[in-house]
Amino acid sequence: MAVGIWVLNDQLHLLQAALASCKPSDARVLFVESLSVLNAGPHLQKQIFFWSAQRHFADELRCAGWKVDLVEAPSYAEALTGWLTSHGISELRVMEPSDRPIHKAIERIAAQLETQPDWQLRWYRNNQFLWSKAEFAEWVGTKKQLRMEFFYREGRKRFDLLMAADQPLGGEWNFDKENRKPPRGGLIGPPALWFEPDSCTEAVIEKLLELQVKYQLTGAARPFRWGVNRQQGLDVLEHFIATRLADFGPYQDAMVQGEATLWHALISPYLNLGLLQPLEVLKRLEQAGLEQQVPLASLEGVIRQILGWREFTHGLYQHFDANYQFSNALEATAPIPAFITNLGGSGMQCLDSVLAELASSGYLHHIQRLMVLGNLGLLAGWDPQAYVAWFTSQFVDAHDWVMQTNVLGMGLWADAGKLASKPYAASGKYLQRMGTYCQNCRFDPAKRSGPDACPFTALYWNFLDRHSERFRSHPRMALMIKQLDKFSSEERFAIAATAAGYEWAQSGNNK
Ligand code: SF4
Repeated sequence: MAVGIWVLNDQLHLLQAALASCKPSDARVLFVESLSVLNAGPHLQKQIFFWSAQRHFADELRCAGWKVDLVEAPSYAEALTGWLTSHGISELRVMEPSDRPIHKAIERIAAQLETQPDWQLRWYRNNQFLWSKAEFAEWVGTKKQLRMEFFYREGRKRFDLLMAADQPLGGEWNFDKENRKPPRGGLIGPPALWFEPDSCTEAVIEKLLELQVKYQLTGAARPFRWGVNRQQGLDVLEHFIATRLADFGPYQDAMVQGEATLWHALISPYLNLGLLQPLEVLKRLEQAGLEQQVPLASLEGVIRQILGWREFTHGLYQHFDANYQFSNALEATAPIPAFITNLGGSGMQCLDSVLAELASSGYLHHIQRLMVLGNLGLLAGWDPQAYVAWFTSQFVDAHDWVMQTNVLGMGLWADAGKLASKPYAASGKYLQRMGTYCQNCRFDPAKRSGPDACPFTALYWNFLDRHSERFRSHPRMALMIKQLDKFSSEERFAIAATAAGYEWAQSGNNK
């Protein structure tokens, strides 16, 4: 019986479970470059990163003695069935995908092959996350509300990270209140570690540039500066520890025009492709942070991002059923505007600045994503499913499991609070406090109505007005609704008229 292993393009690690089930001499390995993924119109940086990293990992396996085939095909189904036939493979081993759509696609393909004698598909448990689906379900138990903070505390104990016996190091689980400093007077972060593309990456760039017009691929292909193999991922981690870890905390929520990376770690793309493993990253951060005596608020802050948010959103994605993807609690129906899909042209300084950064790198840090892009989509009532699809196609670290929960749940509150205890809705005043964009903008963040009103501010109050009945008794929103109640009817009318003037936003009453 010939054995084949299909390594998916976000499973690029030698210890991935399907590879670990065989010796190199006992199986062939398949990688697929499917043109079908281009139908989503992905960002060039994302697709170059994904395909180049996959090609590099395929080479790594060849050097380790594996027989490797990298098949370029119109679809996964064509690549897989052709490969199985031409090599007479009757047992296919696959590590469980992180993303539900590819899992379903593999099941569909396998079902068509089941008529063949002796054919079998063997799944292996995904070992790229710390919590399995069963372990997460056990933690959920009978809890009515699932909150990241309590999951994170459990993770600290379970994986013995930043613990002193059974107590959190420093006496607190969370130092977030020390980590919300605004960027007064601007900030300049340390330079990030980038890489020059090698000949393999250049070949991928050329291939995708030829396909750019046909598939409407977005963003810039060059300069392409992401690492594309495990060693480069490790180098980025060490560079973060050496140059940014100590100061990561205080300004992790700050947004500075022209400073795309600040003190952010830039390791999520490598973690999410499997080039780095979460526990090795967490242990290394803990060890280096304690040795270097970096402020606990910074060390705890970055550990919470990986051990807390990353594991929690993945756990929820697996825990919720497939209908979660259709969530639309706020009945948002406005189409995604052209200034989003064109990556610029809104006239809003904050939005155009982050879209320009996204266009050049395929990356934004989490507060830019949440409080500029997510926030505007929430306030303006953009179709959640379309917005998730857009986010998933545009970021170098984006996968279905990341974006379903992060965009639907955290960004757009489309799941009615399954993930976030309240909508992350904020006016231009928040962006003025936590960012530097407003200084150069033609809008006034303090104005709620009129031609120079900040769209975030006008839409924020209009959002509260449209959903006032829903949130009137919400423990964390009631205060804002009370504030709205104090506005005169003329003022509320002026806000509604201003919001209705944005042809890209939902208006009307959702109460
Ligand atoms: Fe953004 Fe409003 Fe500030 Fe302009 S005024 S940069 S639109 S928050």
